[in-house]
Amino acid sequence: MSYDMNKIREDFPILGREVYGKPLVYLDNGATTQKPRSVVEAMTHEYYNVNANVHRGVHFLSQQATELHEQARETVRRFLNARSTAEIVFTRGTTESINLVATTFGDAILKEGDEVIVSEMEHHSNIVSWQLVQARKGIRLRVIPITDEGELRLDEYEKLFNERTRLVSITHVSNVLGTVNPVKEMIRTAHDHGVPVLVDGAQSTPHFAVDVQDLDCDFFAFSGHKIYGPTGIGVLYGKEEWLDRLPPYMGGGEMIQNVSFERTTFNELPYKFEAGTPDYVATTGLARALDYVTALGMDNIYAHEQALTDYAMEQMATIEGMRFIGTPKHKDAVISFLVGDIHHLDLGTLLDRLGIAVRTGHHCAEPLMRRMGIEGTVRASFGLYNTFEEVDALVAGIRRVARMF
Ligand code: PLP
Repeated sequence: MSYDMNKIREDFPILGREVYGKPLVYLDNGATTQKPRSVVEAMTHEYYNVNANVHRGVHFLSQQATELHEQARETVRRFLNARSTAEIVFTRGTTESINLVATTFGDAILKEGDEVIVSEMEHHSNIVSWQLVQARKGIRLRVIPITDEGELRLDEYEKLFNERTRLVSITHVSNVLGTVNPVKEMIRTAHDHGVPVLVDGAQSTPHFAVDVQDLDCDFFAFSGHKIYGPTGIGVLYGKEEWLDRLPPYMGGGEMIQNVSFERTTFNELPYKFEAGTPDYVATTGLARALDYVTALGMDNIYAHEQALTDYAMEQMATIEGMRFIGTPKHKDAVISFLVGDIHHLDLGTLLDRLGIAVRTGHHCAEPLMRRMGIEGTVRASFGLYNTFEEVDALVAGIRRVARMF
């Protein structure tokens, strides 16, 4: 498939709609992405023609639904380049994936006084999950500080390791600053200390190719809805040796081998972590979304979005009073900003009236806001279907709002 923008935009019907009588300019892709026809149609097709509960049925539909569900797992495995489908656990999203690791790793491995390293730029899901473990087990959170530009202080990172360090849990890409963290290098450092690493890939998987074997991460989490797939489905990749060591997360059907009141044994990987009926229609939708970005080419998506981001930063920098929050060397398609003393909420609300959808607020990263000495930002985040004309509309919109103040 070539990068034909007209064709791409036709694949996403919602992009053709208007809001307040203006063409929609959707720049909130960091929060969630729009869905191509192929995803919605595959899910509709499955509900109308295949629907049956997976894994337990001998009948035709159940077997067909199971086949689609397990094919989806193989599609995810290929997308991440995992060794085996045993390493691909379906969850509800990044948040649940992180909580699964925090809870089970917390129960099985962590003891009072043990330390987990996170960073100052984490999303709340990678902070609060560990604070819950902290409350139960008395662990200590160590925090990698960042620079004013929004890059991790790697010198400080190295100093955080000691004999009580048990895990590093860091984001691949910041959902506020756009910083692409050097996770491969950070994983090597952690492994030199014998410490495993969880990577939060919520904001990396939609924008560039990820290879979990090349990164050598021990766990990797991402959400379907941020990569053009359905809501309510996500993935936890875990190295088999780690998933084997961890206890189940929830109890119920699917995750057991045999149950009795005396003794229950658990299912093999990855089913040990998949209690209850999975969202097998959403897994099909996720697979079609991954097919879509793969056909377009992750490298092509990356190149397009980088060009858009560079152009947007250049154009926005000409606006009087423009202040970027996050100017790292390696920046992804996320731009957080403030203009003069205009409140971020006012700016976002007035842009909305012009048909431009951006996000405002703390972006589920309050500690980061505190570090930057601000309450919130306006955030424009790009997807594979955004155009240079839409960047022009954003820039013109910001100018117009700024003139009103
Ligand atoms: N981590 C990061 C970096 C995110 O940006 C987000 C969502 O914005 C999440 C985790 C949580 O993702 P979800 O709400 O899909 O579980």
